[in-house]
Amino acid sequence: MISAAPPFREDVLLARLTTIGTGGPARAYAEPATLAELERALVAARERGLAVATVGLGSNMLAADTGVERLLLRLNGELASARAERTLLVAGGGATNAVCLHRARDAGLGGFEFACAIPGTAGGGVWMNAGAYGSDWSAILVRALVATADGTGWLTASELGFSYRHSNLEHGHVVAAVEYQLVERDPQEIRAKVKSLVERRKATQPTTKRTFGSVFKNPEGELGAGRMLELCGLKGYRHGGALISPMHANFIENAGDATTADCLALMAEARRRAHLEYGVELEHEVVFLGDLTLPAT
Ligand SMILES: Cc1cc2nc3c(=O)[nH]c(=O)nc-3n(C[C@H](O)[C@H](O)[C@H](O)COP(=O)(O)OP(=O)(O)OC[C@H]3O[C@@H](n4cnc5c(N)ncnc54)[C@H](O)[C@@H]3O)c2cc1C
Repeated sequence: MISAAPPFREDVLLARLTTIGTGGPARAYAEPATLAELERALVAARERGLAVATVGLGSNMLAADTGVERLLLRLNGELASARAERTLLVAGGGATNAVCLHRARDAGLGGFEFACAIPGTAGGGVWMNAGAYGSDWSAILVRALVATADGTGWLTASELGFSYRHSNLEHGHVVAAVEYQLVERDPQEIRAKVKSLVERRKATQPTTKRTFGSVFKNPEGELGAGRMLELCGLKGYRHGGALISPMHANFIENAGDATTADCLALMAEARRRAHLEYGVELEHEVVFLGDLTLPAT
């Protein structure tokens, strides 16, 4: 049977798809649940002249208040599940890191604990080579199955061009599945490690607030972006409904009614101050969707 493209909806707000909770409507939205549905959706989008972007948990995404002129795909069903195969963890591109961590732990597989406090999906992790505590996607990823309107194929870690918080994926390249190489480890040891990493996080980052994770990449040199912005006196600095986190200056919190424009205004001010006081051009880590730009410093 030939699988149909999943229906395209036109009523979905990015504010509902992003952890910061801002952003206007997607031109179209669909949730493919199988690889065949995903491939059909990509072809159907091309036939309609629609550009595509994928959203995972939206935990590293800032979308324009005016909306996004793309088909937004959110992977579901078998594209969001995970299973262990000997020492490999095989996950759909939409599988959350929490699900992957559980499957790995239940199978006695370690090496994914570093991702316990990264609230994203396998595909989102590949896109930006997500990482924490000295490890990242490039350290465990064997290969990723990438679907485009032109076809689907496996790419190795070296073909994905990983560097610090970067891969060479582009919008319209959808990670449908990944294979992680893990190592045998006692589930109790995994549980204990995750507990201590999560406690460290809670002590240093605003984990209970609506944010999109780190705003800026760490610049070269000793001083991280968070500490630099803290020394610029920006903790608690507010614009409209958004504020620079009083807990960690490289996070922006939605205080209830933030817009993307509010977040951008804070980012522009943070860049201006970092440039003025440290001569540094901070580069944003968060992915922009839609018509968004920051003024030059
Ligand atoms: C509280 C908090 C803590 C965080 N801590 C960390 C941290 O320690 N380290 C870190 O690296 N990040 C961190 N982040 C940022 C974020 O969680 C990670 O970047 C995560 O990997 C994003 O995954 P996602 O699925 O939510 O991607 P999204 O935010 O939905 O998307 C991000 C990018 O990935 C693309 N993408 C998503 N899914 C796919 C797919 N299947 N195929 C192709 N492209 C795709 C999107 O198009 C977009 O360009 C944190 C965020 C929050 C809110």
